[in-house]
Amino acid sequence: MSMQVINPANGEKLKSYDEISPEKAEGIIDDVNDAWLSWKETSFEYRASLMKEAARILRDEKEKWGQLMTDEMGKLKNDGVAEAEKCAWVCEYYAENAEKFLQREPVSTDASNSFVSFQPIGIVLAVMPWNFPFWQVWRFAAPALMAGNAGVLKHASNVPGCAMAIEEIILRAGFPKNLFRTLLIGSSGVNKIIENKKVKAVTLTGSTPAGKAVASKAGEELKKTVLELGGSDPYVILEDADLELAAETCVNSRLINGGQSCIAAKRFIVNSKIKAEFEALVVDKMEARVMGDPNDEHSTLGPMAREDLRDELHDQVIRSIDAGAKCLTGGSVPQLEGAYYPATVLTEVKEGTPAYSEEMFGPVASIIEAKDDDDAIRIANDTVFGLGAAVFTQDVAKGERIAEQQLQAGACFVNSLVKSDPRLPFGGINESGYGRELGPYGIKEFVNIKAVYVK
Ligand code: NDP
Repeated sequence: MSMQVINPANGEKLKSYDEISPEKAEGIIDDVNDAWLSWKETSFEYRASLMKEAARILRDEKEKWGQLMTDEMGKLKNDGVAEAEKCAWVCEYYAENAEKFLQREPVSTDASNSFVSFQPIGIVLAVMPWNFPFWQVWRFAAPALMAGNAGVLKHASNVPGCAMAIEEIILRAGFPKNLFRTLLIGSSGVNKIIENKKVKAVTLTGSTPAGKAVASKAGEELKKTVLELGGSDPYVILEDADLELAAETCVNSRLINGGQSCIAAKRFIVNSKIKAEFEALVVDKMEARVMGDPNDEHSTLGPMAREDLRDELHDQVIRSIDAGAKCLTGGSVPQLEGAYYPATVLTEVKEGTPAYSEEMFGPVASIIEAKDDDDAIRIANDTVFGLGAAVFTQDVAKGERIAEQQLQAGACFVNSLVKSDPRLPFGGINESGYGRELGPYGIKEFVNIKAVYVK
């Protein structure tokens, strides 16, 4: 079997990579485990020096990494470059903070000495998606390696070049050979890796069905998982919101990465009194986007990552319109080579339709009318997901209260778009997954939280 890289901007075949056999994957895991046995004994200072070198490579060669991402999955070139820089940030963040986060915690008991220690667990398998093909991997790899673990990466089948590049950067930064390896395998090969006794835990970022499949297998093998899955983030626009700010932020968030982000704004829930004005602003801003070649700096909306994903999105749009939604702009597949889909606005989106209850993973905004502000919060929470949410109001204290206590999601922002930041925990509730990445919480997901008691 081989993995074909198809440029989503024009449908051209770029390269093909051979999948490795299960036997070869097992051999690689043996090598990674051998590398881990010495790595776990190294000091934080040494690990940090290598992690800073990885950051330097990511930053110094950001143009190259950005181009690779654009070629494989179609993101705007500048966004790929910015993504490489963000990866450098997470490497530096954990290089500087891992030792502090994983310091022994003394606990006073009847012992002469007792404390909590955070020990490495071994190899963590990362099953990763194509949408942020560098960032999703580095936000796992930086804390994992700093904690003294090793990693094997099963990346999405449409970004094998990114997968190989990440392995290369880690090696060039001076990390021991085989400490972090890419396994070029398809999703059907994942169960066998989870069964391998040397693999101790699994982290997956991707769709909810993929998360459920991997978590079931890991559960059978009694291996811990962290799941960062899909979302249908609600952005709640209250009656007193600054509408210009709200519309600008909603559109920017909706179109992050061509709309292919788990934490993109997906449902815009608007108080009926301001709906018409908000709608007009959103349509204007969506129509101002220039769809085109992701390498052209004038483009502000690139293609989607694959034609099948574009077709799936279009099907969701059509089914929503058939069920009563009104399309204000976009909504048709353009006559262009490549996986393009225009910035689309659906309004009068009804309960139970795809635009209301499914994840729309592309440049489609769903506007849902609420009777009043309380109704808007009810609708925001009327979802199986719970990744991010945002509320717009000029009453900041009210916004903070709603964000903290009323919106049900892993991250709630006030008058801002939801974004990931190495310093803040990231993850969801309900069908958006469980566990946390980033911040001090992320690095503690894959360690043995050990109690030590000395009589
Ligand atoms: P998937 O969730 O299917 O893929 C993500 C990763 O999981 C890939 O490495 C994939 O491998 C792997 N995978 C998929 N199914 C299984 C399985 N049963 N067992 C083990 N590994 C598996 O994403 P798709 O590319 O198919 O996108 C489909 C939808 O998923 C999108 O439209 C979007 O809704 C959602 N998605 C959400 C993301 C997020 O950040 N939350 C990211 C990407 C997608 P392989 O590529 O080989 O199939």
